[in-house]
Amino acid sequence: MKFISIFLLSSLLTFPLFSQNQQYQGKFEPIDNMIPQPNVYRSASGAPGKAYWQQRADYKIKAALNEKDNTLNGDETITYYNNSPDDLRYLWIQLEQNVNKKENEDFGYAFGNVRDSMNTRHMQFLTRAIDFPAGYTIKYIKDTNGKAIKSLVNNTMMKVLLNEPLKSGESLTFSIGWSYHITDRSMYLLSREGYEYFPEDNNTVYLIAHWFPRMAVYNDTEGWQNKQFQKLGEFALEFGDYDVEITVPADHIVASTGDLKNETQVLTKTQQQRLANARKSVDKPIMIVTPEEAKANEKNKSNKTKTWQFRAENVRDFAFASSRKFIWDAQAVPLETHTVMAMSFYPKEGLPVWSESSTLAVKNALEVYSEAVFEYPYPVCISVNTSNIGMEFPMISFNGGRPINGEISDRAKGGMISTIVHEVGHNWFPMIISSDERQWMWMDEGLNTFIHQRTMKERYPDYPHTEPKSIVPFMSGDKSIMRPIMTSSDNDLLSQFGANYYQKPTVGLQMLRQSIVGEELFDQAFKEYANRWKYKHPNPADLFRTLEDATAVDLDWFYRGWFFTTDNVDMELSNVKWFTVSDEVNIENKGKTVKANIEAENAGENTQDFTSGPEEITMVTTPDQAYGQFLSRMDEPKIRKQLYKKNIYEITVKNVGGLIMPLTIEWQYTDGTSEIDTLPAEIWRTNEYEITKTFIKAKEVKKVVLDPKFEFADTDMKNNSFPKVEEASDFDKFKNKTKN
Ligand SMILES: [Zn+2]
Repeated sequence: MKFISIFLLSSLLTFPLFSQNQQYQGKFEPIDNMIPQPNVYRSASGAPGKAYWQQRADYKIKAALNEKDNTLNGDETITYYNNSPDDLRYLWIQLEQNVNKKENEDFGYAFGNVRDSMNTRHMQFLTRAIDFPAGYTIKYIKDTNGKAIKSLVNNTMMKVLLNEPLKSGESLTFSIGWSYHITDRSMYLLSREGYEYFPEDNNTVYLIAHWFPRMAVYNDTEGWQNKQFQKLGEFALEFGDYDVEITVPADHIVASTGDLKNETQVLTKTQQQRLANARKSVDKPIMIVTPEEAKANEKNKSNKTKTWQFRAENVRDFAFASSRKFIWDAQAVPLETHTVMAMSFYPKEGLPVWSESSTLAVKNALEVYSEAVFEYPYPVCISVNTSNIGMEFPMISFNGGRPINGEISDRAKGGMISTIVHEVGHNWFPMIISSDERQWMWMDEGLNTFIHQRTMKERYPDYPHTEPKSIVPFMSGDKSIMRPIMTSSDNDLLSQFGANYYQKPTVGLQMLRQSIVGEELFDQAFKEYANRWKYKHPNPADLFRTLEDATAVDLDWFYRGWFFTTDNVDMELSNVKWFTVSDEVNIENKGKTVKANIEAENAGENTQDFTSGPEEITMVTTPDQAYGQFLSRMDEPKIRKQLYKKNIYEITVKNVGGLIMPLTIEWQYTDGTSEIDTLPAEIWRTNEYEITKTFIKAKEVKKVVLDPKFEFADTDMKNNSFPKVEEASDFDKFKNKTKN
């Protein structure tokens, strides 16, 4: 409908519109030019397109752990399925262990500065004063006929030059022999794997991850994702089935991704019986290896070996842990369609808190995530104790948190539980909803932390959890070093990636869920995204598009501000004017009425509070010309009667921080009651810097507060009230005293 008389339009637009002198920034413009265009692989709705394809890699691996020299030796066979439309002349394989080679280990990015006094461990990180062997020895690469395949290593990536191009739709089976020295975790910054030595009993716990040469991702957006491993940006991996045989000292216990296939060969009769009992125990964990047995094991140093066999289906990675120190407990967690074994493996150094809390935390995470995202599909879910870190892999995670002299503070215990919940949660993001961690750390960390914090709030309400308020210190920080969330993983600072990639997206999703979209609609949309991209490789645009597609809420303004800029929310309630309508109706004397209006506005401008009372305004009968071609007339006396003696409040809000947001306005009335009005973010469409809005209230207002429940991470709450909150500083108090 296009036909509107110019006169009518202009008579409607009498509110002060174009008073801004700041530049138009287009905060509501679509973000289409900031994200990749949709195509046949990724549709405009955010779902995988009709022609979406994905590569696949199946692995058969035999590995042997040598405890004497801390080495791991492996022979692996990869079957790689080229489902892409392209013929491939070479393949890229990830060799993450090479990051630990001297002068290769961190691409020079970690804490470069030397200070007056340096602790020795930090100095070792910086200088590598004690050197050690690290990185892969590649023994062979050969095809199924035993014919050698040429390769070339570039740092953490290996190019496999195929004898024949791998045609679209075909698969290739080839084998790699390799070995590497497992690294001492205490000697590295950001060590996600390696060994931890316990001098007291001369034993070692091995955490084995990114341990075998793995296929790099080849996809429709990147081609080969062969960006080097620089430690901060994690992994991009293809799905496949794994058959893995792990040979370890005979007295070791192995915790691993996958189903244990040869239980009768590696477990004692007693252990097998206990495991059978644990499979039926839904209310508490059962010890498979007791603390006493683990302590006795520590004293053995078996020269024999045992081979543990595992099979994992449709996973994007495989990790395991091995030690004779492990205590092992397990219990059954029945989900909607199947029962999962929640299990924990820990040395005695984790007691007593690990036996009390670890498997329970796994169970809590499995239950809440299965409800909030989709049901956990795998047979086991394992938490392994380690020092310092939390690190995730399919079905297994390595989690820090230990008591000191048998004691653990409540805070440290909360941190340990929170870590376990978080790492278990990574089974969904990115192990199944398999985003590219090397490129977008926030996609798995942010989405995972969002559900992780919801789990903490639901199952551990006494421990602290993230809420919009939590991000305020970060958002008020130094903008000159701050990066937008949409920054690739390795380009953020060690000092801020936690806030930027974990907390900020979490808070963004919380705001969408709780205050912008609404819980029910948002939860549906979030599940829609999860199910659309289950076992696939989503990009940020797929998430952005799906959340709009499934909610009918335009969120481009939100993505633009929250994900692509470092702006913060700071709304200022700069003025509230109070009017009442007098009963005078003056049709003839227009001049007088207009004058009265102007006086009222001017009078309102300098008010600091409501003490001077309302300004009276008059309402006149609408002149015929304002009705344009309408022959009918509204019941104007009725409208005036409705408004007579009501309180009219005109509020002015300034956008100081730059981010636009919905406004929640709390009206505190003189009778002690209160009420909240909500304005959508769209209120900022016509003016991105300042808005004015009028409300009619029967009751008299004592105080107006913006964002009373801290829903929007407003970085300065001091300018959110009218009358202004007087928070006199000590200096101000001193000044006032001297004035008097
Ligand atoms: Zn994480």
